[in-house]
Amino acid sequence: MIDIYKYDDNNVFAKILRNQIPCKKVYEDKICLAFEDINPKAPVHVLVIPKIKACSFNDFIDKSDENSIALFFKSLRKITKLLNLEKGYRLICNVGDDGGQEVPHLHFHILGKKRLSGLIP
Ligand code: 5GP
Repeated sequence: MIDIYKYDDNNVFAKILRNQIPCKKVYEDKICLAFEDINPKAPVHVLVIPKIKACSFNDFIDKSDENSIALFFKSLRKITKLLNLEKGYRLICNVGDDGGQEVPHLHFHILGKKRLSGLIP
């Protein structure tokens, strides 16, 4: 069972943030890092993660102040602009076991450049 409140410093995205595992970086600022998903489900499949130790959407929202939350979502929006997804895109944030979350560090998937149908890409 995934723990969405107790941060695991050895999770794969923590290692990417520490440059212990390589990634194909798309964007970075002081709030977040964005990189290509290793197993893309669409021509554009980017993951956006905050730089703080947040296990999940729940954990991030529960422990962050409003300004930090706003800054993260502003960066997320900036990345969707950089990706030139004129025809739209899908944002996904899986939370916990039932949500299908595999990596216990908050991440938003940005999927685009493909006409997605149904709930699961
Ligand atoms: P989740 O199911 O937790 O929402 O999604 C985790 C995502 O992380 C999956 O889409 C998976 O392909 C991606 N992923 C897992 N390990 C790595 C990795 O080492 N590098 C990159 N770039 N993506 C990864």
